[in-house]
Amino acid sequence: MTVAEDILAIFDKQKAFANKNRPSYTVRIANLKKLKTAILQYEDEIFEALYLDLHKSHFESYATEIGFVLKEIGYHIKKLKKWMKPKRVSTPITNFPAKSYLTHEPKGKVLIISPWNYPFQLLIAPLVGAISAGNTAILKPSEISSHTAEVLKRMINNTFAEQYLYVLSGGVEISQLLLKLKFDHIFFTGSPRTGKIVMQEVAKNMVPVTLELGGKSPCIVDENTNIKLTARRIVWGKLLNAGQTCIAPDYLLVHSGVKSRLLSALAQAIKIAYGDDARHSPDYPRIISRYNIERLSTLIKDANIYYGGKFDADERYFEPTILNNVDFDMPVMQQEIFGPILPVITFTSYDEIVAKINNRPKPLALYVFTNDRKLQNHLIDSIPAGGACINDTIMQIANSKLPFGGIGNSGTGNYHGKYSFETFSHAKAIVKKTNRIDVSIRYAPFGNKLKIVKILMH
Ligand code: NAD
Repeated sequence: MTVAEDILAIFDKQKAFANKNRPSYTVRIANLKKLKTAILQYEDEIFEALYLDLHKSHFESYATEIGFVLKEIGYHIKKLKKWMKPKRVSTPITNFPAKSYLTHEPKGKVLIISPWNYPFQLLIAPLVGAISAGNTAILKPSEISSHTAEVLKRMINNTFAEQYLYVLSGGVEISQLLLKLKFDHIFFTGSPRTGKIVMQEVAKNMVPVTLELGGKSPCIVDENTNIKLTARRIVWGKLLNAGQTCIAPDYLLVHSGVKSRLLSALAQAIKIAYGDDARHSPDYPRIISRYNIERLSTLIKDANIYYGGKFDADERYFEPTILNNVDFDMPVMQQEIFGPILPVITFTSYDEIVAKINNRPKPLALYVFTNDRKLQNHLIDSIPAGGACINDTIMQIANSKLPFGGIGNSGTGNYHGKYSFETFSHAKAIVKKTNRIDVSIRYAPFGNKLKIVKILMH
């Protein structure tokens, strides 16, 4: 059989299974628990694979990948009964007498495609939602984080029946074959560039899609803030996974009054976390590929390097790097950095930077550091973004009760917790009428009924 025929065979099995089965609450809970057990069973292999792919420390792998997903599963197990309950809503007088309610039905067969930067979390966290909502799923991890993809494949394919969940490994060609199939929902995480291709492909079959994309997330630092703490939190969020995080603060906008103090506090925070030479830190991850080292190196060429700047393509190492005196026209400001480079732009006018940010595609995250409550509210209200965090970075993702997703170029739709359940479900609207009474106003002949309709519908 050709690869395309293999894929179609799996798809057809899942289709037959999804058409016949609507998993009950009990079955969904059992599958969530089964997933949790499998993760615990494969934990050491996942740690090892994440180390080989990205040099992630066990602490970082647990906090941002394994533990993150286990927490999400626990939350779904706790809340699923409530989410699955039909929701009664009131009925307008025009529909009297009737009951109105909605149920969440599984979308059916879903496809989940993920990137390489959090290769475990970004495949399994959406899967938790797909299971909770009662779907079957084909999962396509990134081929670039190959060690993690291999573990994911064994973990899922050895645990679940292929007509229910199945990991298909492979690259762009596999993704493209999958995108041609009539899934009931596609959940894609990756770059805005690929997101556009996905959207065009799925439009041909009218498949609903969630796009979790990226972009340049600004981080604004006001004069009125605790500089040392601000620097520590920015450095933490920027250097997590060596900057290869979709919601990393991409660039800094620093009020001129505190720029020099902030620059030295940032350098200090880097040294405290990773030592004088981050290359020797057991906690500092590596860049995913030589290609990305080369891409990052072009972004610092001819720039004013305040800190760092060294790299070694053979070791996939890129030093934490701060760029000073950056402006919006420089190469580093033309693409998502997705690496440990922090450009610093100085400003004096808030109106000006709000206008500059709002002239660019809407970011996935917005960060604001200030003690001034009025300014916090003003900036959050004036700059559209997928999510935001005041006086910290990244932590908006660490709450299952908040939706996670972008807007426009940074994404479409959202997930985590209840939002995952809703993303992978269809909210079916139901009106139940009685046959005992039939209000005749809507039926022709209408005569002078318009007057009554106007009163009822006003
Ligand atoms: P990518 O778009 O290159 O790849 C993502 C997935 O799409 C992979 O599985 C890949 O095989 C597949 N793919 C690539 N090209 C394709 C094509 N032409 N047709 C069909 N499928 C294709 O992204 P990446 O480089 O792996 O990840 C980095 C990007 O992902 C960054 O932009 C980052 O911001 C974004 N990201 C977003 C989130 C989020 O939650 N919003 C999380 C992590 C990463």
